[in-house]
Amino acid sequence: VGDSRDFDTETESICPFCGVGCQVSLKVKDGKIRYVEGINGPANEGRLCVKGRFGFDYIHHPHRLTKPLIRRDDAPAKGLNVDPANLATHFREATWDEALDAAARGLKGRGREVAGFGSAKCTNEEAYLFQKLIRQGFGHNNVDHCTRLCHASSVAALMENVGSGAVTATFNEIENADVAIVIGANPVENHPVAASYFKQFAKRGGKLIVMDPRGQALKRHASHMLQFRPGADVSMLNAIMHVIVEDALYDQQYIDAYTENWDAEKHHLKDFAPEKMADICGIDAETLRDVAHTFAGAQSAMIFWGMGVSQHIHGTDNSRCLISLALMTGQVGRPGTGLHPLRGQNNVQGASDAGLIPMFLPDYQSVTDPDIREKFTEVWSSDDFSAEKGLTVTEILDAVHAGDIRAMYVLGENPAMSDPDVDHARDALAKLDHLVVQDIFLTETANFADVILPASAFAEKWGTVTNTNRQVQMGRPAVPPPGDAKEDWWIEVELAKRIGLPWTYTDPSEVFAEMKQTMASLDNITWARLQSENAVTYPSLSLEDPGQAIVFGEGFPRPEGRAKFTPANVIAPDETPDADYPMILTTGRQLEHWHTGSMTRRATVLDQLEPEANCSLHPATLRRLGVNPGDMLRLSTRRGSIEIMARADRAIAPDMVFVPFAYVEAAANILTNPAVDPYGKIPEFKFAAVKVEKIDAQ
Ligand code: SF4
Repeated sequence: VGDSRDFDTETESICPFCGVGCQVSLKVKDGKIRYVEGINGPANEGRLCVKGRFGFDYIHHPHRLTKPLIRRDDAPAKGLNVDPANLATHFREATWDEALDAAARGLKGRGREVAGFGSAKCTNEEAYLFQKLIRQGFGHNNVDHCTRLCHASSVAALMENVGSGAVTATFNEIENADVAIVIGANPVENHPVAASYFKQFAKRGGKLIVMDPRGQALKRHASHMLQFRPGADVSMLNAIMHVIVEDALYDQQYIDAYTENWDAEKHHLKDFAPEKMADICGIDAETLRDVAHTFAGAQSAMIFWGMGVSQHIHGTDNSRCLISLALMTGQVGRPGTGLHPLRGQNNVQGASDAGLIPMFLPDYQSVTDPDIREKFTEVWSSDDFSAEKGLTVTEILDAVHAGDIRAMYVLGENPAMSDPDVDHARDALAKLDHLVVQDIFLTETANFADVILPASAFAEKWGTVTNTNRQVQMGRPAVPPPGDAKEDWWIEVELAKRIGLPWTYTDPSEVFAEMKQTMASLDNITWARLQSENAVTYPSLSLEDPGQAIVFGEGFPRPEGRAKFTPANVIAPDETPDADYPMILTTGRQLEHWHTGSMTRRATVLDQLEPEANCSLHPATLRRLGVNPGDMLRLSTRRGSIEIMARADRAIAPDMVFVPFAYVEAAANILTNPAVDPYGKIPEFKFAAVKVEKIDAQ
């Protein structure tokens, strides 16, 4: 924080935290970023939240990796046992040539024994290069990233029923809506600048319907707050749609013109009368009927959802319901209407678009289609690669345990913190013959590495990123990487050369130009345009078009232009509370901390605001347990136990405990259930059976 007149240079870039994609101006003095201001980007119009404004000084943290590192021959056994103080016991510093040679030696020629986790924090160009390196270099599709842990089920449902995995309208379109549903999302904490638009919408009279098992700050602005039973999403949404059918509130004209399978959906909904569903979902029938009439009666309505919807074994079914609700009421393709899964990481949309997915090449083109593979191998001047869909994040770690995958390249992801049943993930990482980790800090995953490649933060490189709104935006370097750290794209290119690929890229703009050859979504979006305009929304219809904020007004990218209704059945959570584990565990983020905490716990202001691992329970639950806020609790599930400080929060249901997953000292994912949704393969982070016990003071 500093005086706004006191800087040497200012550089426009993009906030590195959430998928809102706020544009920022980075003010540099004496080689360091001193403060950050919001600028007039299409998503933020000058606004920033606490992370964007005060969360940047991790870039200059003394823990930054500044030298390539190679595991010592006499290092202790691999484990979560390295810290900056004992680094030299485990690793020795190396030159770039030595480290890249060592990294490549352990990967080269191993074909299907290799898998890669790319990053939603890196640029589009870096994501594209990463998936290309795995496909071209090893001949298969075992490449994935954290979309598998956040919105894979939403994307599966959108691809299936709408024909496109991205949002149909920007979140800013809420200013043209009368009614909006926000379900399974806590945007005040997780997408704070988007939440400011939601609050403004409510302030000017828009009806905001918030649905979440956990209460939240947006409740104060809501016309309806439905705090439903965890896991009962499908019952509740089907009950609302039942009323829309029963009371003939649907838009027959829209259904006839733009959809298919309506009769099956209509028939399926017969069994979901609100009076039958009320006890199951914990919302009275009258409220369900009122919400159905409010939503269906809107001129224009939007639906926003987050990981409360997607991170269930029925996550795809949850999203199918939301899509059906929008389709039956004709709420897609016009101003103030649309489907919007709020994307989590700053570039999870772009990394997915760029092909960091085991079943899709860039632009969601199927790896199983020979014509598509031929198109890519021509552009890549490469041999054909496997037509088999690759393994997902959790499947890859299972394959390590099975001995089928023995080497990994992990770029900017932290599976040793982020994966469900994280001890299983850590054991897998320890078991690998060879692990290359490319990151800016010694993450928990880097603890298990054989070679560590020091990489660049967002403010140290050029590159494009794509936010939740489909806005492709230009990131620029404000400062150089520290020490010998390098830009990620450069490291990928040098590693690719050493595993035998004829790559000659010298600048990310060349990578972007290649991406445009196979990605129709980037038509009319050029590097030069992004340099001068900062952001262009895809699809863009001409070089002058800033891009289409709303899509699918004239039909969908599916057969005959029709979207599809897919009826959703009720599937119980994988693990329900019982006598041994009587409460419900749910996990998520906090306003101040981002994901596994590797950046925000090293950001001074954010760390001071939230310095300690904590979990939230209802005050009545704490009283029942004989616990005061600030006391320590032991939380146990069938996977393991953690000890963590208790916090009182009236927003939490009495049978529930909320644990943020940013804290290594009380890692929430030691507890979580690895059961996955069958379509999106996303783990059930939002529901597990848990035992909560007071730890008596000694
Ligand atoms: Fe950054 Fe998201 Fe906050 Fe915007 S809302 S400043 S993108 S964390």
